[in-house]
Amino acid sequence: MDDVVASAPGRVNLIGEHTDYNDGFVLPTVIPQRTFVAIARRDDTRVRARSETLGAEDGYELGREARTGRWIDYVQGVTRALVRRGHVVRGFDAVITSEVPVGSGLSSSAALEVATMRALRDAFGLALDDLEIARLAQRGENELVGAPVGILDPLACSLGEDGVALFVDTRTLACERIAIPDTIELVVVDSGVAHDHAQGGYRERRAQCEEAARALGVRALRDVGEDDLASLRAPLDRRARHVVTENARVLRAVDALRRGDVHALGALFDASHASMRDDYEVSVPEVDRLVARAKAHPAVLGARLTGGGFGGAIVALARAGHAHDVARAIAVEPGARVLVPKAQN
Ligand code: ADP
Ligand code: MG
Repeated sequence: MDDVVASAPGRVNLIGEHTDYNDGFVLPTVIPQRTFVAIARRDDTRVRARSETLGAEDGYELGREARTGRWIDYVQGVTRALVRRGHVVRGFDAVITSEVPVGSGLSSSAALEVATMRALRDAFGLALDDLEIARLAQRGENELVGAPVGILDPLACSLGEDGVALFVDTRTLACERIAIPDTIELVVVDSGVAHDHAQGGYRERRAQCEEAARALGVRALRDVGEDDLASLRAPLDRRARHVVTENARVLRAVDALRRGDVHALGALFDASHASMRDDYEVSVPEVDRLVARAKAHPAVLGARLTGGGFGGAIVALARAGHAHDVARAIAVEPGARVLVPKAQN
């Protein structure tokens, strides 16, 4: 049988950060870079996978998936989630190639999971829709990799489309596609900073949100407003305020997109960054400098840290026609690397 090739894009979150595990709202879109997975079926139950990106090969036995701490866990998570859900998968050889920068907050992990699931769907004729693929990708990453990631990344990689923002209510998983006006272009620049404590910091923030929700007697911070937070101790009050105001900003951003009001959208980006920096305390000086560079450019409408924080990338809104120029101006910071617009070659 010929190889089956499938792919999935990386994603960038426009606004709605640290809201997905609070039953809140997110607004991601896809980036031009994609991950490709080629699969050839085997007659046994062996899985062999080669990542051209990492120059590495690994394998395991279907049904015997177990955490190794290596990249193959992302593939193991996919097959285990599929099989547990009752899908019939047999052995396969996989070759992975990717343009999505790994570990820069553009979700190379979900791109890999979704592309692998799509390839397996085609190779083995599995009945899987895009939403189910996102759910199973999240489950695999949670259970096998052991990363407590939310639904945002796999949902964006599985349901996202070029030129469209995906408005998601993470409580109901209701999704709405909203066109990004052609008067703006996105710029994404990586800070080159990846902090060791990113996972620990993420877990701590999650735990603080859960504690705040418990203290307020609600299921999730989605269910409270800014006026409800006075009884919380510090820093839970600041953490909760970020989540509550960020949810409100997503709703206003959706409204601004619908009206084509790109200035309002830019102002919401700026406010989101300030909230992540001051209330949620997940920014770092290198990222703040990139945001400052972006905002100093006359063609920029707004800029913010995107992704979980503790390093990672920023997303800026530029007037159409200026993205390359803006990207160049931001990337003068040491260690910075332009991710979007994609380099022409
Ligand atoms: P992000 O999703 O933001 O890029 P993560 O830490 O969530 O960062 O996921 C990165 C990990 O996903 C890598 O360390 C690697 O284990 C795995 N991964 C992503 N892309 C690939 C790839 N093309 N080949 C092999 N492993 C990959
Ligand atoms: Mg990831």
